Amino acid sequence: MTRQPLATSLDSYEVWFVTGSQNLYGEETLQQVATQSQAVADGLGGMPVKVVWKPVLKDSDSIRRLALEVNSRDDVIGVIAWMHTFSPAKMWIAGLDALQKPLLHLHTQANVELPWADIDFDFMNLNQAAHGDREFGYIQTRLGVARKTVVGHVSNPAVLQQVEDWERAAAGWAAARTLKLARFGDNMRYVAVTEGDKTEAELRFGVQVNTWGVNELVEAVDAASDADVDALVAEYLEAYDVADELRPGADRHQSLRDGAAIELGLRSFLEEGGFGAFTTSFEDLGTLKQLPGLAVQRLMAEGYGFGAEGDWKTAILVRVANVMGSGLPGGASLMEDYTYDLVPGSERILGAHMLEVSPSLTTAKPRLEVHQLGIGGKDDPVRLVFTADPGPALVVAMSDMRDRFRLVANVVQNVDAPDLPNLPVGRAVWEPAPDFATSAACWLAAGAAHHTVMTTAVGIDVFRDFAEIAKTELVVIDDDTTVRGFQRELRWNQAYYRLAQGL
Ligand code: MN
Repeated sequence: MTRQPLATSLDSYEVWFVTGSQNLYGEETLQQVATQSQAVADGLGGMPVKVVWKPVLKDSDSIRRLALEVNSRDDVIGVIAWMHTFSPAKMWIAGLDALQKPLLHLHTQANVELPWADIDFDFMNLNQAAHGDREFGYIQTRLGVARKTVVGHVSNPAVLQQVEDWERAAAGWAAARTLKLARFGDNMRYVAVTEGDKTEAELRFGVQVNTWGVNELVEAVDAASDADVDALVAEYLEAYDVADELRPGADRHQSLRDGAAIELGLRSFLEEGGFGAFTTSFEDLGTLKQLPGLAVQRLMAEGYGFGAEGDWKTAILVRVANVMGSGLPGGASLMEDYTYDLVPGSERILGAHMLEVSPSLTTAKPRLEVHQLGIGGKDDPVRLVFTADPGPALVVAMSDMRDRFRLVANVVQNVDAPDLPNLPVGRAVWEPAPDFATSAACWLAAGAAHHTVMTTAVGIDVFRDFAEIAKTELVVIDDDTTVRGFQRELRWNQAYYRLAQGL
């Protein structure tokens, strides 16, 4: 079988920059529109996803055909639109109705300052986005087109940041639309929040969620060659601070070799199937020697999505966050709210998992250790031990609310952890916004899960754009949140999202 290594970079993607006008203006003005819109597109030249300028659109047919071309190309992940002049918006009805990719309306103009002393009516005729874009805003709203509107000149860093956030969200969306997720075993027995409608997930997010018997993974693990295990162990010795007992020749070196075989088997299974995300279940390990820990940690850090206990919804979020954060410092990981430090005024959350936290959350060299794990009834698993770097972070959970998926996000601050000499897992310690009690009360009111993706690479603005593109509810707990306001938002959303299904 052919193996497809997972791509997480944004390099293969592009977004198209389209400018609206009309034939009324004559050739000379339209040439100026073309030249100036190219300059605006050039102003977006530093974006993580390449911006490609397209010829000025002047009639309904060409707009519709452009939308169809965008739809048909996997590498084109979105459209940026600007009405430099007045582009009568009925021209855009067929195209906007056909467009199935993310849209950003850039409300800008060619110049920053007005040349007050020189303005004549030719200048007014050319530089009229102030009302051309209002016409475009109307038709987008009239048609109910989901989009992001960004206002300002492309020389303004705040404008560029908003475009970049949207590009990252569009890339996350493109990755979701093509994501294949492999589940080894089912959800943890009796657990509610990790359940969900996999058919709806494929319709809503484009993710194919399917299950394989763990014995198929065991076959791939058994097929790992000694030479490949040797090479991978050498890589571990280079990359990590490896516990003495795991080193070649030491007592427990076989545990490290078993862990390496699991990684090789998982990787070959995922690459052969073209999977970008996966789940495991400690209740369903077949004849695997260990609960996959080290392997899962490393695969997450490479860009794979992962959820423990069969949690495919969180696995989707980890994959999407990995793509959205591509090229940025920090990373994304499965996280679980575990236990609290309730000292008044300095409340903190200690998050971790049995094993599976991505080392992309730390810039330090993780320690590679082996310890007993009571759960799962297998050999002691190898795992990377570290604490997430202090700094801004975001946790996001996905719940199935029966008629829709709900995303809940909390803006948090990772902080330095005290020494944890007896806790041999990857972990993070954070302070949630706006404060611990408000955060937890809102999280519980929203029915948000104990599993999350924690990202330290992208912030809430990128997730807001993603939710808008995905037409999926997102409720945010941040510095502006109050419990009463949040509860009202949940009630309104309950009504809105039911009504919106018919909009
Ligand atoms: Mn868990």
